[in-house]
Amino acid sequence: MKGGGLSEFLDIPTLFFILSAASCCICISLLLTWWSSRREFCLLSWAVAFGLAILTMLLVALRDRVPHLLSVTVADAVLLASFGYLWLGYRQFTGRIHRRDRWVACAGMFVWFAIASASSILDDMNARAVILSGIEFVYFVFIITDLVRHYPEEPLPSLALTTVLVGAHAAMQAYWVAASIAAPIDPNTVVLPNSLSMGLRFTESSIFVVFLGLLQLVLIGQRSERRYRIVAETDSLTGLANRGHFFSRIEPALVDGDERGALILFDIDHFKTINDTYGHPTGDRALIAFAAILATTGSADGIAARVGGEEFALFLPNGVTDEAVEVADRVRRMTADLRVAVPAGTVAMTVSCGVAGVGEAGADFQALHAAADRALYAAKSGGRNRVAVHRSLAPKSQCTHARLSTS
Ligand code: GH3
Ligand code: MG
Ligand code: MG
Repeated sequence: MKGGGLSEFLDIPTLFFILSAASCCICISLLLTWWSSRREFCLLSWAVAFGLAILTMLLVALRDRVPHLLSVTVADAVLLASFGYLWLGYRQFTGRIHRRDRWVACAGMFVWFAIASASSILDDMNARAVILSGIEFVYFVFIITDLVRHYPEEPLPSLALTTVLVGAHAAMQAYWVAASIAAPIDPNTVVLPNSLSMGLRFTESSIFVVFLGLLQLVLIGQRSERRYRIVAETDSLTGLANRGHFFSRIEPALVDGDERGALILFDIDHFKTINDTYGHPTGDRALIAFAAILATTGSADGIAARVGGEEFALFLPNGVTDEAVEVADRVRRMTADLRVAVPAGTVAMTVSCGVAGVGEAGADFQALHAAADRALYAAKSGGRNRVAVHRSLAPKSQCTHARLSTS
C-alpha cells in the first residue's frame, strides 16, 4: 500500500473516535474496579488520567468551534496532566507515593503553561511536538524507574509487561523528539486531518493507551490474587509457610531415584509450661522468635513451615541426612541460647528434632514424614533438647537416635 493509501486507511478522526470510546470504557472499568478495591487509590489516579485524556480529545475534536488557545494550548496542557496522573497512579501502586507527588503530577502542565505565557514558541508545530513528547518521555522514565525497583517485591507478570510497554512507548517519544528536531515537518505540507506520520503516531499511541489501561486492570487482579494466595499459604503468627502449603511443596520435590532431600521436624519442649507460666502472648512471642531462627538457618533452598501449634518443619531439597542433622543441631543450640524478654526477666526454651533423609526413608512423602516423626518421638523420649535421626530403611520401624549434644 502506498503512503497516501495508508494515511487514508489510518483516518485520524475515526481513530480519534475509537480511542475516545475505548478510553471511556477503560475509565469506567477502572472506577468500577476501585469500587470493589477501595484501598487501591492508583485506580482513581489512572481513571483521572483517562478522564483527562478524554477531555483532551474532546477539546481537539472541537478545534474549529472553540478558541485556538483552548483546543491547542489548553488541550496539550490537560494531556500533560493526564501523563502526570498516570505516573501518580504507578507511584501509588508501588507504594512510593510522597506528599509532593501531586504537584509533580501537575508539573508538566505548569511548565507547558509557563512556556505558553512566556513565549510564542508553542505556535510552532514542531516545537510543540518536541516539548510535549519530551515531558511525556520524562514521566514515562519515572514510571519505568518505579516499576523496575518495585518488581522484586511484587513479581507480577503484568508488571513486567507494563514495564516493557511503557519502555517501548518512551523510546517512541524519544524518537519523535529526535525526528521533530532533525527533520521538522513543514506545516504547509501536512494534509490535515490525515497524514502518514500523524496517522502512525496516533496508531502507536492508541495501541499503547488501550493496552496500558487493560494492563492496569490485570495488575490489580493479579495483585489481589497473589495477596490471597500468600495469606492462604502463610501462617499468620510466624510468617512461615503453613502446613498445607508445606506439604504441597514437598511432595513434588521428592523424585524417585534421587537420594537427596531431608526432612527435619521440630517440637518445642514443654511449651505448655511457658504458656501456663508466662501467658499466651509470651508463648506467641517465643513461637515468633523460634520461627525467625528457622527462617535464617539451613540452606537457601530450604522450606521452613509451622506445621502445628508449637511444631515446625524444615525440608532441605538438596540436603543429605548428615547435613540435615547438622542444621537441626544448629537450630537446637540457637534455640537453647534464645531468651524471650518478659517483665520479670527472660524465658528460655529448648527444642527436640527428628531427622529423616530420603536416602534412608525413601522418596515417598508419607514414609519420609513418618520416619521423621518417629525420630522426633525418640528425641522426646530420650530426654528432649536433642536431635534424633532415622538411620536405616529396614526394618522400617527402627530408629537410631543419636544424642549429638545437649546444653
Ligand atoms: P512436649 O515437650 O511433650 O512437646 O510438651 P508440650 O507442652 O510442648 O506439648 P503439648 O502438646 O502438651 O502442648 C503444646 C502447647 O502449645 C499447648 C497449646 O496451648 C500451645 N499452643 C499451640 N498453639 C499455640 C499458639 O499459637 N500460641 C501459643 N501461645 N500457644 C500455642
Ligand atoms: Mg507438640
Ligand atoms: Mg512441644
